[in-house]
This record gives sequence, structure tokens and C-alpha cells, in this order.
Amino acid sequence: EAAVKAPGARGDRDCVLTRVVAPRVTCCPAGQTGLGKSTLINTIFASHLIDSKGRREADEPVRQTTEIQTVSHVIAENGVRLRLNIVDTPGYGDQVNNENCWDPIVKYIKDQHSAYLRKELTAMRDRYIQDTRIHCCLYFINPTGHSLRPIDVIVMKKLSEVVNVVPVIAKADSLTLDEREAFKQKIRAELFHHSIRLYPFDTDENDEEEVQLNESIRNMIPFAVVGSERNVIIEGKSVRGRKNRWGVVNVEDEAHCEFVSLRNFLTRTHLQDLIETTAQIHYEAFRSKQLIALKE
Ligand code: GDP
Ligand code: MG
Repeated sequence: EAAVKAPGARGDRDCVLTRVVAPRVTCCPAGQTGLGKSTLINTIFASHLIDSKGRREADEPVRQTTEIQTVSHVIAENGVRLRLNIVDTPGYGDQVNNENCWDPIVKYIKDQHSAYLRKELTAMRDRYIQDTRIHCCLYFINPTGHSLRPIDVIVMKKLSEVVNVVPVIAKADSLTLDEREAFKQKIRAELFHHSIRLYPFDTDENDEEEVQLNESIRNMIPFAVVGSERNVIIEGKSVRGRKNRWGVVNVEDEAHCEFVSLRNFLTRTHLQDLIETTAQIHYEAFRSKQLIALKE
């Protein structure tokens, strides 16, 4: 859908702008079943929805995601339209044996790279390539307040080799603000300790402003999020939120959780960079490996 260069075209002179349309970004959540992945997706969409494909009624009972499913909507963020695709994945890490539980999702991500490469190599006359590459993988962490599980470390490492990984603390309403801050610091320390290099990456091309923006994201990660598919009444207003033992949480209130920060990160501040990093770092790494393998 996005206007892209014809494959094989060199330089802007040959650039074929077919349609001026919204940028397209594709995200996938990953993590254990029941951490609120599907709910968070619906929360992101519910807030800025314009058009919808495959709408789901809010009152449907909670479903279990058993296969990889894509939901695609055009949303308006700050007056800018963008198409957000989210690939919902079945959970894992809940079996007795979690060996290779990350395989399906890593394979899915690589398959998208592979499909793109095939189109680049063969469909030389196509004006644009349908791009299904994943730009961002939201990794859901159990809100234990203690530490990462060994499986989290392994899976984030595997994923970070193929995709931009952004960790989030699931169901952050189950932690107090103090517990949440301590947990965030602990997780950052563990990620560092295990040398897990997560998005965003600084490059030589970044200007001062981008470097600072990236630093602020690194200091905020993991985003502590709350999702909800229902509205609650807070001070007479109906807002997207949850009631729990301690009171009500307004998902969009930055004093309550970091949902809005995550949404801004995805749809505003890092939208373009997520797309570029995917093409220039992850896809490029995949592509050169494949092309070397072809030559051998
Ligand atoms: P998934 O398996 O990761 O896709 O999880 P679901 O989105 O299906 O949610 C599992 C359960 O957790 C549902 O009962 C949700 O209502 C609940 N849930 C989802 N998000 C949150 C949250 O942020 N906080 C709390 N307390 N519960 C949540
Ligand atoms: Mg699900």
C-alpha cells in the first residue's frame, strides 16, 4: 500500500510514487499466554480507530489465540493517518517443556523477510512490493516484581537477532508504582548483564536530538502497560480502563501506566525509525546471508 520504489530502481529519479498513502507499520506481541497481548492490541486500536477490517465486538468472551492472526486498521495519530498491522501470536512458555517455544514466531518473522526477498528478486516489474515484514516485537514480561525468567532472556535474545524487540511489563496494574519502578530497573540491569542488545540502536547518522530521544526510551524500557477492552467511569467520564482491588485504572492516564508512552513511541516518535531499522539492519542481515548461501 505504501508508495515504495520499484524494485531495482536506482535513485530518486526512478522512484515510482504510485499512491500517497499512510505509512504502514507491523507489530507483533510475544510472550506467555494470558499476559494480555490480545487485550493490549485491542486497546491500541480502540483509541484511534478510523476504519476497521475484521472488527471484533467488545463484549465477545475472551478468546484464546491459537494461531497467528493479523489485524489491520488505519488509525489517526495527531492528524496523521497510518496503517497499523498487528500480528497476534499464540502464547508460549506455559508448557512443561519450553524448548524451542520461540521457533514459530522467529520462523514467522524470517518467513516475511524471505517473502520480501523473493519478491525483490523476481517481481522486477511490480511497482510496489507488499511488505509484511515485522517492524516491532513487543515482548510481554510477567509482572512478578522479581526478575526475568530464564526463558525470557533466551527468547528476547533469539528475537533480537531478527527483529526490533521492545519489552513491556504486562498487567502493570498488579504492581504498586514503587514495585513497578524497582522491577523496571531490575529488568534493565538484567538485560545489560545478559548483553541483550535491544532497540533503539544509535547510528552515526543520528543527530543530537535523536540520540537523546533514544536515550530517553532506553531509560523508560520496559514500558509498564495496562490494557482493557472495556470502559470504566472515572469522575463521571467513561474512559478505557480497569477496576481492580485497589481502585480504577485509566489506561490513558500517564500517572497510572505507560500505555500512552508506548503508543506514542510506536505511532509517532519511532514509527519511521522502526521501519528503517527493520529494512537496513534486520532485513539486510537476512538478505546478505541468503544471497551468500545462494552463491555457495
Ligand atoms: P493473551 O493470552 O496474552 O492474549 O492474553 P489476553 O489478552 O487474552 O488476556 C488474558 C486475561 O488477562 C483476560 O482476562 C484479560 O481481561 C486480562 N488482562 C489483559 N490485560 C490486562 C491488564 O493490563 N491488567 C489486568 N489486571 N488484566 C489484564
Ligand atoms: Mg491472545
